[in-house]
Amino acid sequence: MQALPAPTFDDVLDAAARLEGVAHRTPVLTSSTFDERTGASVFFKCENFQRMGAFKFRGAYNAISHFDAEQRKAGVLTYSSGNHAQAIALSARLAGIHATIVMPHDAPEAKVAATKGYGGEVISYDRYKENREEIGRRLAEERGMTLIPPYDHPHVIAGQGTAVKELIDETGPLDMLFVPLGGGGLISGSALSAAALSPACTVIGIEPEAGNDGQQSLARGEIVHIDAPRTIADGAASTHLGHYTFAVIRQRVARIETVSDTQLIDTMRFFAQRMKIVVEPTGCLAAAAVLNGIVPVNGKRVGVVVSGGNVDLPKLAQYLA
Ligand SMILES: *Cc1c(COP(=O)(O)O)cnc(C)c1O
Repeated sequence: MQALPAPTFDDVLDAAARLEGVAHRTPVLTSSTFDERTGASVFFKCENFQRMGAFKFRGAYNAISHFDAEQRKAGVLTYSSGNHAQAIALSARLAGIHATIVMPHDAPEAKVAATKGYGGEVISYDRYKENREEIGRRLAEERGMTLIPPYDHPHVIAGQGTAVKELIDETGPLDMLFVPLGGGGLISGSALSAAALSPACTVIGIEPEAGNDGQQSLARGEIVHIDAPRTIADGAASTHLGHYTFAVIRQRVARIETVSDTQLIDTMRFFAQRMKIVVEPTGCLAAAAVLNGIVPVNGKRVGVVVSGGNVDLPKLAQYLA
């Protein structure tokens, strides 16, 4: 297949039109306690309320909506630690096509069950020993299916960008935008929207301390690969940025910072106790950075992407205890 051109803000607008009436327009919440603690005016874009519980529905649905008749007939294939799997499974069901998903053996039970529940065929692998990209490529070839990777795809990036488009449409210009960072699909799309709608906004990526490949990549000017990190932020446990995502990040992301698992747990607790919302560890990355003063935000208008809310309930109880 021919390589697609790099994504632009026009692609985000096209994705927004395709998602209209299909994806939820998620709420933007505020918290006076959070504002008092940080000295900023913070707007949370709550993608934990998105269909299947995370922003990933946006990119997956957008990508599948571009399939031609032949691609629809063979179906879609992907690999994912969870939320992208559910997003592909649900989007495929809505499009009436078959989905095969390669998932790590230790993916959260809630995510595996939800993926199967949406009708996806799950194939599991050992993420410490096997390469999911190789397995994915081989299966796609054998079965003639179209591979939609979790982040490094222009249609995925454009779809993810619609969340921050909605955010800024609602709040007006922002000084700073904090975005959880895994492979970079979410932040790439977010940065395209921020550059178009709030050009003076500083975009900052936040990744888990245990896996700061994005931070290293930005510093070195090339994609840095790391071993699979052990972190509770399973949605951001990626080992490297993608080619499409790194190109956008280099151009439009000002800095990348990290937070610890303990800081993520404290932030989950804040969300549950103060804002009455369930946010998964990965969904807390951006908020944790602001709450812990990793980057000063005093006096600023700040956007925070709350990226998802899919967490096993027994684990949640453990974290909150
Ligand atoms: C996938 C995911 C991320 C990271 O998104 P990337 O596009 O890989 O950077 C962040 N939060 C949640 C909840 C996710 O599922």
